[in-house]
Amino acid sequence: MAQTKIIVTEREDETPICPYCEKELAEVYTRSKGLGWLEGKNAICFCPHCKKVLGFGQSRMM
Ligand SMILES: [Zn+2]
Repeated sequence: MAQTKIIVTEREDETPICPYCEKELAEVYTRSKGLGWLEGKNAICFCPHCKKVLGFGQSRMM
């Protein structure tokens, strides 16, 4: 099975858009403590505009 090569291009001039409120994400908020159900290395990242959660990750990666 041939492996598909993914090209990763770094674009510092492109701003990601929040899929919920469609505002530009010049920054993303992350939170790893204080919500009770978040423990250890887990963190959530969320939109600073609508506060909707964009994804989960490990806090050491963010
Ligand atoms: Zn948003």
